[in-house]
Amino acid sequence: MKPRGGYHYRIAHVDLTTGQSDRRAFDEEFARTYVGGRGFNVKLVADNLAPGLDPLGPDNLLAICPGVLNGCYLPSAGKTSFSFISPATGLYGDSNMGGIFGSEIRQAGVDGLAIRGRAPRLSYLFIDDDETRIIENEALAGKGSVETEGLIREQLGDDEVRVASIGPAGENLVKIACVTSELSRNAGRCGVGTVFGSKNLKAIAVRGSKDIPVADVARLRRLAKAGFDALRSHRLFEFWQQQGLMSVIDYVNSIGVMPTHNFMDGVFDRADQVNGVVMEDHYKIGDGNCHLCPMCCSNVCLVKDGRYAGTVIEGPEYETACMFGPNLGVDDFAFVIRANYLCDHLGVDTISAGNLIGVMMEAVETGLLTPADVDGLPMRWGDQESITALLHKMAYREGVGDVLADGSRRVIETWPQLKPIISQVKGLEQSAYDGRVAASMALAYGTSDIGAHHARAWPIAKELELGAGWTLEDKADIVIYHQTVRPLFDMLGVCRLPWIELGFDETQYAGFYSAVTGVEATFEELLGKSRAIYDITRAINIARGATRADDYPPDRVFDDPIPSGPQQGKHATREEYGKLLDIYYAKRGWDAEGTPPSLSAP
Ligand code: SF4
Repeated sequence: MKPRGGYHYRIAHVDLTTGQSDRRAFDEEFARTYVGGRGFNVKLVADNLAPGLDPLGPDNLLAICPGVLNGCYLPSAGKTSFSFISPATGLYGDSNMGGIFGSEIRQAGVDGLAIRGRAPRLSYLFIDDDETRIIENEALAGKGSVETEGLIREQLGDDEVRVASIGPAGENLVKIACVTSELSRNAGRCGVGTVFGSKNLKAIAVRGSKDIPVADVARLRRLAKAGFDALRSHRLFEFWQQQGLMSVIDYVNSIGVMPTHNFMDGVFDRADQVNGVVMEDHYKIGDGNCHLCPMCCSNVCLVKDGRYAGTVIEGPEYETACMFGPNLGVDDFAFVIRANYLCDHLGVDTISAGNLIGVMMEAVETGLLTPADVDGLPMRWGDQESITALLHKMAYREGVGDVLADGSRRVIETWPQLKPIISQVKGLEQSAYDGRVAASMALAYGTSDIGAHHARAWPIAKELELGAGWTLEDKADIVIYHQTVRPLFDMLGVCRLPWIELGFDETQYAGFYSAVTGVEATFEELLGKSRAIYDITRAINIARGATRADDYPPDRVFDDPIPSGPQQGKHATREEYGKLLDIYYAKRGWDAEGTPPSLSAP
């Protein structure tokens, strides 16, 4: 049955080199197989793959698809996926952003964007309902994301146009550059901002006025009400609104897996100075939320006095607070806010930036490098001046920042002695959970298709709480389940946090999908589609040269036992990890090298 709702059956294709654009139809088979969002993206990227494709070249296709539920009246249905070949890893890359940007794309009458080419001069793309324009504007050069959004709205004379833009880092092809919308909603990972920069694409602005087609509005209303009610009645709902992900700081520190001093330790002795309580008591001035989300997990924070007085951001959340707090030995929450602001303004991913700065701090502290290697910066733990200076150097590729701007792979090439202390997988810097104490988390990082990112699979809490008797099979199973259900959320365009944080029953999404599209599907059927998408990204990565060796977690996971805290002495072993990887491949139906049988090449 053809889906009666959910789709406009058109993707806007834009060639920035020629200035041509058209809206290409897709058929019901495409819609049913790839669902939407990340599913559409992966297919578009796979079909565009050519031998030797340069991630920074004009042929790298940038696919931006909101999911099929994005913009519908459903809890937390405001997520949009960006996919491409990553300049940071050379492999399949994607990133995800909350907000109203994706919904506006759908209201402009398309199910996504496919952008190729390179504009001759710095430009932005304007999707204005049925019209697509490429607008040159070199005056935007060097502007921060926040400023850019305002300037584009001013030029278009529309305060409500939705904008996603890059800062100076993206323009300078910094490989950890992000894309920002609504001032602080970021698609941060894998260098999506770098791909924008490589295309001379400063921003995308969207204005849409059409309806998003829904097959069964009455059913959708009924299911949505039940979903909103379930979330609002959860016992932790209000607590979640108060602190959001900032509450994770205390939890992670208490169980001994807080990345501290460049992932060396698992406990930070001053975590109570950068936690959710400090934020609430001294800095929080309001709540923020992504489009259609009742959970309001964002915290709007203001520094009221001191050297950073006047700094205001929507953030930080856990990852940023950890990577610029404990991971760098920082115990000053005002500075965490300031660093978050700088990352948003410059347009760099907070996770990768905090990770790389931590590497440089440990390197200098332990004598692997000297301050002279870091342009004379002292790089002491907690040194706010060094951190700020290095952030700017990265964004503008000055001095040592030029090396860091190319990410962990170039850092290792430049200083091979740093490989044992860099927490990265496939060239993507690890996010803020320790991989040493739970084998499933090590496997999650190692096998993630985009590199060491927790959003693909986050089994660490379950294994630590419930996993005492788990077999290796159990650990592989939970990773595969996460790597299947979480990508499904991206295909649908919904946030994973209601499920992971408030226990929202994930099987409800089958009902949401059926109400919107008019196609009856079980949750298991949707998981099967997601699993097939994961096989395609695997095939892309193999075509790009990835091997089994790329599915290993960072060296530190094996070689450096946690020195203190509740997890003291814990680390993984290569022998056990190798067995786990064999089991994981077998359960996925892949061969011993991790190759899916049906997809020799996409
Ligand atoms: Fe956005 Fe938080 Fe809601 Fe997720 S839970 S959609 S991140 S506000």
